[in-house]
Amino acid sequence: MITITQRLAQTLDRIKLAAQKYQRDPATVQLLAVSKTKPISDIILAYKAGQKTFGENYVQEGVEKVQALSSQYPDIEWHFIGSLQSNKTKEVAQHFDWMHTLSREKIANRLNEQRPEDKTPLNVCIQVNTSGEETKSGLLLEQVDALADFIQQCSNLKLRGLMAIPSRKDNTEKLNKELILLSEKFKQLQHKYQNIDTLSVGMSQDLELAVENGSTMVRIGSAIFGERVQTN
Ligand SMILES: *Cc1c(COP(=O)(O)O)cnc(C)c1O
Repeated sequence: MITITQRLAQTLDRIKLAAQKYQRDPATVQLLAVSKTKPISDIILAYKAGQKTFGENYVQEGVEKVQALSSQYPDIEWHFIGSLQSNKTKEVAQHFDWMHTLSREKIANRLNEQRPEDKTPLNVCIQVNTSGEETKSGLLLEQVDALADFIQQCSNLKLRGLMAIPSRKDNTEKLNKELILLSEKFKQLQHKYQNIDTLSVGMSQDLELAVENGSTMVRIGSAIFGERVQTN
């Protein structure tokens, strides 16, 4: 059977090959290991193989993992990448280092107020709805600047960039268009604000296309930890 250590190495190879193919330095594409629904023992295996950043989707599950691992592995960086309701913001503000799915002022405001004083500002990305479909979460590209301006006023939040979950890979042409518009918006933000260095896009299926289009952080779950029973 292929192990998590081997799958992690294969995933890092995919990133490296894609970066080389598109004339990018592989070091500019970070791997976020998405461990949702997977046991703590899997996270420890990936950690021991060198992985230091992990993404979780569900507040309660994520907080349990952070609490179980943070004293023994204080150098793990925890990223919240799921959708967040306002009654759960406090847990994320208290336990996570990053939050990728910000799309409302109300949530930004609560995270800012609930971030503990002894912690560094919470790193945040604004989630963009690249397909424009009403059922999808995230802001339209033209709505991004207003929220970015708002976040700049929040001293306990640090805006790092944009995050997206684009259309499925089966429509490559559509996906490509979405990714091009997203990366243009990212470059605009970099000119307008300080500290913008993160374009969080790319999953197990579309990692290469994301790297081609400027991703600086790919969020990879199943390619490292295996298929999930409960999909999301
Ligand atoms: C589950 C999930 C991922 C990882 O997806 P894989 O296809 O397993 O790589 C990445 N980003 C988000 C927001 C997710 O919910």
